[in-house]
Amino acid sequence: MKILLTGGCGFIGSAVIRCAVAGGAHDIVNIDKLTYAASEAALETALHHPGHSLVRADITDAAAMRAAFAAHQPDAVMHLAAESHVDRSIDGPADFIHTNITGTFVLLEAARAYYATLEGDKRAKFRFHHVSTDEVFGALADGDPPFNAQTPYDPRSPYSASKAASDHLVRAWGHTYGLPVIVSNTTNNYGPWQFPEKLIPLILINALEEKPLPVYGDGRNTRDWLFVNDHAEALLKIVETGVPGATYCIGARQPRRNIEVVRAICALLDQKLPSPHGARERLITYVRDRPGHDHRYEIDPGAAETALGWTAAHDFERGLAATIDWYLNHQAWWQEIRGKTYSGQRLGGAKK
Ligand code: NAD
Repeated sequence: MKILLTGGCGFIGSAVIRCAVAGGAHDIVNIDKLTYAASEAALETALHHPGHSLVRADITDAAAMRAAFAAHQPDAVMHLAAESHVDRSIDGPADFIHTNITGTFVLLEAARAYYATLEGDKRAKFRFHHVSTDEVFGALADGDPPFNAQTPYDPRSPYSASKAASDHLVRAWGHTYGLPVIVSNTTNNYGPWQFPEKLIPLILINALEEKPLPVYGDGRNTRDWLFVNDHAEALLKIVETGVPGATYCIGARQPRRNIEVVRAICALLDQKLPSPHGARERLITYVRDRPGHDHRYEIDPGAAETALGWTAAHDFERGLAATIDWYLNHQAWWQEIRGKTYSGQRLGGAKK
């Protein structure tokens, strides 16, 4: 397939492209605005692979999106471009409304106009796959059953509300205009190339630098942790085999409390690189909770696993060890980002 993929220089999009291009299965047209969160280096050898081309464009630019569809005539869309960090959405929601809601609307309209020109097999096989989050479902209490595709929406943060709005738009374009849309909602991802403001890289890097390890509230907030390469495989299966109108809830069955995540990072780092000052747990610092902090997210991935013939290959301990090794071996990448755009003082919180 030729896939028009948005946000391919981000954390998850780059993993999808590395996976798609390495297998030689798909050609990717990568539409990315190259915001602060983007990294061309994350594409690794896929960056200059003949199966990948990067188009620097903003998904809110209607003329640019129409031109991209006309020029590349894709077989499918994978829509990942978004503003993605909850703490930033609390500090400044405007970019989240603009990119996540207006941007999705603009992309849907460009896809609808393009779809109207398709005929025969190309029309029958076209898919618009929208990549979303489990945060649209709101928060679970301990003991509640996990989210599934039937769970009602109840978003709580500007980020999750903007993603929920975009999910609704995508489904409305399916029902109203017959666009063959698919939505996937996924738990917290972690792994190589994650921007160092997010919980796992933030804690890992602060621990390496002997800085405080900020933990929101009592540290009991729980997330299900999915290794990013496993998510990339699931997303490719969805675009290849997914049924129009379906929702796929993707999770790893690896729920951990934030404090457990932080302790696991400290323990693994202590094994790999013991600190002369002693065990790194001493750096854990509880800080005032994030406003509206959701207590627990967890997905029941059973239906998606059966439909896709996919399960997450990494348990949390194995994925975390691989992630720590990766950050230890790529210090120049994250040190440049920390020096340029981001002090390391911002809190990683509970997500994403
Ligand atoms: P990210 O912040 O790492 O990357 C986002 C990418 O989108 C960047 O390359 C950025 O330059 C690009 N982008 C942003 N605004 C754009 C615009 N207006 N036009 C074009 N490109 C733009 O995000 P991520 O963590 O890779 O998440 C990708 C998608 O997956 C998002 O839609 C997010 O909501 C969803 N998601 C993320 C997680 C997670 O744990 N990271 C979990 C579930 C769902």
